[in-house]
Order: sequence, then C-alpha cells, then structure tokens
Amino acid sequence: MSDTIFTKIIAGEIPCHRVYEDELVLAFLDIGPLATGHTLVIPKEAAKTLDELSGESAAAIGRVLPGISRAVMHATGASSYNILQNNGADAHQEVMHVHFHVIPRFKDKQAGAGLGIIWKTQEINHDDASELAKKIRDQLS
Ligand code: 5GP
Repeated sequence: MSDTIFTKIIAGEIPCHRVYEDELVLAFLDIGPLATGHTLVIPKEAAKTLDELSGESAAAIGRVLPGISRAVMHATGASSYNILQNNGADAHQEVMHVHFHVIPRFKDKQAGAGLGIIWKTQEINHDDASELAKKIRDQLS
C-alpha cells in the first residue's frame, strides 16, 4: 500500500492533536472537523480498508474505541455521537488508510457544519435475501 498523509502522522513527520496512542493504534483530532471533538482512530498498520486489516489491529481498535468515544463525549459535552467508517472511494473514503471517525453530535446541531445522513431504505425481497445471506455465509466459511 502506498503512503498516505496518515503514514506521515503515525511517523511523527506531520503534527496532529493526539488524543490516544498505543503500540497498534493512534487517535487524533480531525483537521476538518464535522463537529467540535471530531476524532480519527486509526491502526498503525498500513491497510487501505477495513476488510484488509489484520485481526490483531482490528481487535486493538475495538478495545479502545469505546473508551475514546466516552472521552470525546465527556470532553465536549456532546449528547450523542456517530462512528463512521468509510471504505473505498464510492463510500466517501478520501484517505486510503483505515480510520474510524468519532463524530460528536450536539442538541444545538452546531449550525453550518455537521454530518448529514440520508437514509433511504428499500423494500427487502425475502427470496433474494435468503439466497444472499447464504452466499455471504459461504464466503465466511
Ligand atoms: P474519509 O473521507 O477518508 O473517511 O476522511 C478522511 C478524514 O481525514 C477527513 O475528515 C479529513 O478532514 C481528515 N484529514 C485529512 N488530512 C488530515 C491531516 O493531515 N490531519 C488530520 N488531523 N486529519 C486529516
């Protein structure tokens, strides 16, 4: 995988507002926050998307994500938060190094900025769904 801006942040070649670091994980404030306290949690392993990440790094992120979310909530006074994790250009990923966004949400919505979510559902076809679920199970086995 080619280097990204996050590789340089991990190496300390580019500064960041660090909030957490251990052997496998780094967390820092997003430079273009969608809300005050918008934090990025990244593995030090250079994987492009979540499906390419090792179990060890994924577990390391899973271990610290709840605590980092809690800390961001308490430090900002947010009422809620979203965890956003984009994989691939069609999913709005711009930096091709796995990252989890912790995006605080406030009751007053912080006018003029923020995360917009369009949630347009479609009706499920149970025959297709049954076939698809089997296909996914087969991939997993
Ligand atoms: P994506 O769209 O790939 O899920 O999000 C990438 C995020 O990385 C964006 O929210 C963007 O603001 C953030 N970002 C890009 N470059 C830098 C940087 O140099 N420093 C920090 N702290 N965040 C960055």
